[in-house]
Amino acid sequence: MQPVDTLILGPLAVTMDAGERNLDSGAIAIRDGEIVAVGNAAELEGLEAAETIDAAGMLAMPGLVNAHTHLGDSLFRSLVEELPLEAWLERLWVSERAFVSRESVELGARLSLAEMIRSGTTCALDMFWFPEAATDAALGAGFRLLTGPIFFDFDGPDGVAAEDRIATGERWLERYAEEPLITPCVQPHNALTVSPDGFRAARDLADRAGALFHTHCSETATEVRQTIERFGHTPVAHLDELGILNGRTVLAHCVHLADDDFARLRRTGAAVLHNPLSNLKLGSGIAPIARMMEEGIPVALGTDGPVSSNDLDMWTAMRFAGLLQRGVHMDPVVTPAHEIVRMVTTVGAETLGLGDRVGRLAEGYRADLILIDLDRPHLTPMYDVYGHLVYTVGRDDVRSVMIDGRWVLRDRTLETIDETAVLAGMRELAAEIERHAARLEPA
Ligand SMILES: [Zn+2]
Repeated sequence: MQPVDTLILGPLAVTMDAGERNLDSGAIAIRDGEIVAVGNAAELEGLEAAETIDAAGMLAMPGLVNAHTHLGDSLFRSLVEELPLEAWLERLWVSERAFVSRESVELGARLSLAEMIRSGTTCALDMFWFPEAATDAALGAGFRLLTGPIFFDFDGPDGVAAEDRIATGERWLERYAEEPLITPCVQPHNALTVSPDGFRAARDLADRAGALFHTHCSETATEVRQTIERFGHTPVAHLDELGILNGRTVLAHCVHLADDDFARLRRTGAAVLHNPLSNLKLGSGIAPIARMMEEGIPVALGTDGPVSSNDLDMWTAMRFAGLLQRGVHMDPVVTPAHEIVRMVTTVGAETLGLGDRVGRLAEGYRADLILIDLDRPHLTPMYDVYGHLVYTVGRDDVRSVMIDGRWVLRDRTLETIDETAVLAGMRELAAEIERHAARLEPA
């Protein structure tokens, strides 16, 4: 075999490959950003490598996929609290209008990327104003991002008039079409903020560009009631009747579903992006993901934005995804830990259309992987690796992170983001945001 760039030797390798092999003393060889061999350390240790990593005492696994978030929202984390979703959004949007700019969104995105990389996330689906800002932040950080033009029926704080969004979106899609780390999405906000014509135009744009279609759907009982009042259908049925749903459509939330909604999701192949922390914190409810999974509806996992879940930590999201279903169903075997790990690796990647590139440690896949320190009290002993990953491992256990063959976190040091500068910039801007918000409070 030809020399490789990086050889990782000796970790417990949770491959999530076709056979879902776990190798006790594994080895992963990487060349030009691609995994070229996965096997036992004894078989691959003679391989010539520019860099050999001794990963004994660690666990190697595919990087985590965060299937729904809003990176720029880290600008406003904990600014608005203790309100139901609709009132909360209205209040949040006042601050967004005052402070959202191309520059501030890029700063917020860098901050979120630093948080995500530190916690082992290597790929995320982002929806926010100025998608070019998050895109440039991701390219700078070497992070795998799905993002793209957003749609609302009103003029946004990004200065784009509602009628110009298709043209603006087309320009974004052209500009980033060739970036290997960027996957384009077309993203109307939801059925109440985007008209049927707006949805049809966005669907058409996504189809022309071969982009993923991403929207919020059935997040709260209020949204479902208002959608029925306005259109005579639940949000899922409304989107289905408009011809929006297919295997390239992903719907964030789906907390409140009618029986007929399940049938429509099954028939169309649309996937669900589950955000347990955000749904709980905003009091929206608990999405019926055990039933979705039982019915074969693909479910990926996300954190939602840092203003609604207040955290971009996928380990917490995994733990809640499992615990909630067991509590609701009073059943300790529903949503097995193994299935939850699939949600953030193979199934997460497949749901977002990246199933042939990431989500597995397997030959021919891009090298998106993480190393976890196992030499810790809470991780010793480890009899059940999937149970540990869902119910015990936390973000502080993540030691190193590689995306597309490049170390972005090495021994807990960020390699591609100037964290000190990002934190300083954020503190300065946050002081302004706070002063502005204080003036909005009633006397
Ligand atoms: Zn969201």
